[in-house]
Amino acid sequence: MIIAERKPLSELLGMLEGAKDITVLGCRSCTAICLAGGEKEAKELSEALSLHSELQGKGWRVATITVERACEKEFLSPLEGSVGTLISLACGVGAQVVQAMCPELHVLPGVNTTSMGAPEGMGVFLEQCAGCGDCILHLTAGICPIARCAKSLLNGPCGGSQDGRCEISPDTPCAWEQIVRSLEARGRLDLLEANIPPKDWRSSRSGGPRRTVNAEASAGEQQKAWREEG
Ligand code: SF4
Ligand code: SF4
Repeated sequence: MIIAERKPLSELLGMLEGAKDITVLGCRSCTAICLAGGEKEAKELSEALSLHSELQGKGWRVATITVERACEKEFLSPLEGSVGTLISLACGVGAQVVQAMCPELHVLPGVNTTSMGAPEGMGVFLEQCAGCGDCILHLTAGICPIARCAKSLLNGPCGGSQDGRCEISPDTPCAWEQIVRSLEARGRLDLLEANIPPKDWRSSRSGGPRRTVNAEASAGEQQKAWREEG
């Protein structure tokens, strides 16, 4: 899932200069799970903004809308008729889809989108994938050395770890220590002998914005368009 965290209220207030009609948009998918932008957080932010408006005489009209998935335009019909400023508590993808679908709205980011990861514990989320576009988890015991090693090393540890912790911080496990221990437990230390060649980073963000095409779905769409034309 995509991980995000709430922006401080003071930062949002700074973005709202000149606003009158404000809609707070929650998303029931990723940002709801990471407790940054679901229905509950959207209501809380609306209440905080309404209170601020009342105390400061701003005259804001604040509404709240929560959709299933802000990143899919099919779910955005509840936004029809919204005017003014929209604070998006969806991830950066959702915020951009909403802005493209509703050009008359001024969309503000209400969260900082940080990474792709999973819950590690209550309210704690760990980055697990950097979206490199060429997965090598089969060689690394299902632990991503790109996202989880501070140096994104592909062929073993740097030598700086201490007691299983990364040299960048005692709070961060050394991903390569985890990989080696996990391979050892499975009797697959032989995988460490494989030399992982330098990655071709063109499949990652380094190659520019990526477009992923599902050929089957894409062909189906094309046939549908032809049928409609014919
Ligand atoms: S190897 Fe690439 S695709 Fe696989 S988990 Fe790591 S960053 Fe993600
Ligand atoms: S200590 Fe481990 S996780 Fe940290 S940079 Fe070195 S190999 Fe990577």
